[in-house]
Amino acid sequence: MSASGHPDDTGLTVVVPCYNEVDNLEHSYAEIVSELGEFDLELLYVDDGSTDGSLDVIRRLADSDNRVQYISFTRNFGFEAAFSAGYRYAGKPWILHVDADQQFPAAEAHKLIAAAKAGYDAVFGVRTNRQDPVLRRWGTAAFHFIGRKLLRIELPPGATAFRLVRTELARRIVDLELGTPYFLATVPRLTSRYTTVPVAHRARTRGKSKVGMSFLSSHAVELFVGFSRRLSTAASVACLLAGGAGLVTALAGATGLLSGSALTVTVLLLLTASLTATALVVRSLVVVGAGQPRPRQFYVREASIPVSAADRLLDPSSSLESA
Ligand code: UDP
Ligand code: MG
Repeated sequence: MSASGHPDDTGLTVVVPCYNEVDNLEHSYAEIVSELGEFDLELLYVDDGSTDGSLDVIRRLADSDNRVQYISFTRNFGFEAAFSAGYRYAGKPWILHVDADQQFPAAEAHKLIAAAKAGYDAVFGVRTNRQDPVLRRWGTAAFHFIGRKLLRIELPPGATAFRLVRTELARRIVDLELGTPYFLATVPRLTSRYTTVPVAHRARTRGKSKVGMSFLSSHAVELFVGFSRRLSTAASVACLLAGGAGLVTALAGATGLLSGSALTVTVLLLLTASLTATALVVRSLVVVGAGQPRPRQFYVREASIPVSAADRLLDPSSSLESA
C-alpha cells in the first residue's frame, strides 16, 4: 500500500452526497457495490440535512454492510459542503465522487481509474452526451466560457463532480477552508497532475434535481469573483473612465470650451464624484468582503465514524436525549 499506489491496490472511498434522495439510495448503493465491489471499498454517504427519510435508508445500509459509513448534517448546507465533509473523512487513499441519483453510471469509474494510473492525482469525468435540460447545458457552456476564456480561471475543460481524486489532495483543499472551495478551480491551483476523461451520462429517473438556476448562477459569481480579479478590476476601471470623462466634460463646460449651463456642469461634477466613489466602494467591498470570517462550511449531527469536535455543532454527550 504505497502512497503512490492506485485505487485497485490501495482502496477507494466512494463519497455520495445526498439531499432528499430517498428513492435513489438503494438503487445507487446496489450499482456501486456491483460495479466496484472488487476494490477495497468504503462507501461514505453524506446526508446534507435530508427531510425525506434518506438518513433512515443510509442507517439501514450501514447496519447491513460494514463498508458503509455516513455523516449527517444539522441542516442543508449545499452540495459543496456535502462533498467537502466526505473528502475530509474519507478513510481510503483515493476518493471517487458519485452523485446519489445515478446520473453518472458507476461503471464509468473504471475509465477514471485507468487514467489515474497514468500518473494523475485528480481525474474529472466529462459528459460526452449530457442528459440534462437544454438550459442547464447552455448555462454550463456559458459558465466555462466566462470562467476560462474571459476571466482566465484555470478550470479543467468540461469537468464535473464525477471524479477520482487522491484523498490527500482532496483533504488539502477542504482544509484550506475557503468560503467556497470550488474544487474545479482549486485543484489546478495546487497541482498540474490532473486530467479529464469522457464519460457517459444518464437522465435523472427518480427525484428532482436539487440545484436550481438561481443557486447555480450565484455559485458561478462566487467563482468569477473569488478566483479572478478581472471582473472587479474591469468594473472599477469602467467607473473611473466614466468618471474621468465626466470630469473632462465638466471642466470643458466650466472654462467655456463647451457651451452649457451651470446646471449641466454641476450634474457632470456630481456624476464624476458618484462614479469615483462607486469605483472605490466596489473595490473595497471585494477586498473587505473577502477578509470577513465566515461560519464553518458544515456541522455534523450524527455520524458512524469519529468526527472532530470542530465539525460538530453540539457535543452529543451534552444532549438531553442521551442524558
Ligand atoms: N446534493 C446535496 N446537497 C444539496 C444539493 C444536492 O448533497 O444541497 C446532492 C444530491 O443529492 C446529488 C448531488 O448532490 O447526489 C448532485 O445534485 P443534483 O443531482 O440535484 O444536481 P444536478 O445533477 O442536477 O446538477
Ligand atoms: Mg444529478
